[in-house]
Amino acid sequence: MTVFDPELRQRSRAARIAMALLRLSHAVKAISSDEVKGLGLTPMQAQALLWIRYTKPFLASVGRLAQALGVTHVTTIGIIDALERAGLVTRQVSPIDRRVTLLRLTPAGEQVVERLDAFGHTLEEALTRLDEQELAALERGLGAVVWSLRSNGLLQVAEACRGCVYFRENVAPGTDEPHRCTLIERFLSEQEARLACPDYAPEHPQGLLPIAAE
Ligand code: SF4
Repeated sequence: MTVFDPELRQRSRAARIAMALLRLSHAVKAISSDEVKGLGLTPMQAQALLWIRYTKPFLASVGRLAQALGVTHVTTIGIIDALERAGLVTRQVSPIDRRVTLLRLTPAGEQVVERLDAFGHTLEEALTRLDEQELAALERGLGAVVWSLRSNGLLQVAEACRGCVYFRENVAPGTDEPHRCTLIERFLSEQEARLACPDYAPEHPQGLLPIAAE
């Protein structure tokens, strides 16, 4: 039985929701193409630029980008090669591990990211039709699905440090790196703590975002 079978959908709420999510994924692809039209980018390239911009610099590796985009390493290399040729991205050998290549935006790449400000807004706008209570319920439900898929290794969820079980806030007050991550045993600046990390482990995994658990 497949969720494409309308009879199954009549009987099963889970099948109806699964189908709705599949339809949404098609809509998201179309919306994404539309939103980056005019910048000379593909949606994947736009996502790669946004990921580099909002990921902690010491974690912004090619391998982690591949996981975030849900594509192979070879495909990711192709995306980065194109962005590098366009002068938007550079590669840098990690000072900690020379086997790891870190990705950086060039000044031109930063400018393009600023123009990507509207990326995702069409979907956000569609959600404004729901009231606060409906949004909260949707967030809880989608959050549970997202974390379940993440625990099966099917997608990556990267968030900023606050709300992560490994985050120790302001353990070195008055220094440039006041916070600490007990997973990687590293002090973090405030700016680093605010950027996304693919190893984020929520205190309350049932919520999509830390704020959902408040
Ligand atoms: S594991 Fe948690 S505390 Fe450590 S850098 Fe990632 S999000 Fe921050």
